Amino acid sequence: MRVARFSVQGTQAFGVVEGEPGEELVSVIDGHPFGEFGLSGLQLPLVDVRLVAPVLPSKVIGLGRNYADHAAELGNEVPDEPIVFLKPSTSVIGPNDPIPYPMLSREVHHEAELAIVIGRLVREVPIERALEAVLGYTCANDVTARDLQRSDAQWTRAKGFDGFCPIGPWIETELDASDVAIECRVNGELRQSARTSLLLRGIPELIAYVSAFMTLLPGDIILTGTPAGVGPIEVGDSVSVEIEGIGALTNRVTSSE
Ligand code: ZN
Repeated sequence: MRVARFSVQGTQAFGVVEGEPGEELVSVIDGHPFGEFGLSGLQLPLVDVRLVAPVLPSKVIGLGRNYADHAAELGNEVPDEPIVFLKPSTSVIGPNDPIPYPMLSREVHHEAELAIVIGRLVREVPIERALEAVLGYTCANDVTARDLQRSDAQWTRAKGFDGFCPIGPWIETELDASDVAIECRVNGELRQSARTSLLLRGIPELIAYVSAFMTLLPGDIILTGTPAGVGPIEVGDSVSVEIEGIGALTNRVTSSE
C-alpha cells in the first residue's frame, strides 16, 4: 500500500495511492495511517493533488558510511560503530519542493538513501523484533554541504539546512526493502546506482541500534546511508532518487538569494 500525504484546496490529508502509472487515484484516508483507519470513499486523481512530505517526523536520524563503496570514495574507513547524526524536522520537504542552495556553502551534494518510516513508539527493541516498528519505506535525499561537513567538528550545519531532507513521494508499506535497487539521477544523468543488500548494517540492526539510546516515535525517519557516486548539485538542477518498489522523488535546486 502506498500512503501519501497531500494538499488540496488548502487542507492536508492522507490518502492511499492506487492504479497504473499516469492513472493513479488517491483514496482519502479517514483516520490516521499510524493507527486504525478506513477510506472516506472520496477519490481524487493523483494529478489533481499536490503531494507533500508523507510524514512530519519528530526527528530524522541519519547513518554515515553505511555502504563500503561510499566510505571509500570520500577516503574514509568503515566505522566499527555506526556514525549517527540528526537532521532537524525543518530540513524535511516533500516531492517537487525546491531545495534552496544555502548562501553558506559552495559545495552541496546529493545523497540517495532508503528511508525507514517508524510506525509505532519503540525503545530498546531487539533486532529480531525491529521490523515490527516499521510502517514502511520512502525515498530520501540526505542533501549535504560537503565543504561544511569537512570544516565543522560535527555535521549539524552540513546536514541541517532548510530543505536538506526531501522525502517521498509516499510511504510503501508492503515492501521487503532488504534488496532493492536505489538510484540517483541529476538532470537525467545516472549518478548513483546500488542495491540495499549492500548496506553494511541492515534495516533491523539500524532500528535496534538507534532505539537502544533514543525512543523512536511514529513518523520518525531513519536514513540508511548512501552508496557511492555522491556529487555536486547546482542551482537549476533536477535531482531524482528512485527506489525499486517505491517510486521516484524529484526536487529542483533553487537559489536562496
Ligand atoms: Zn547520508
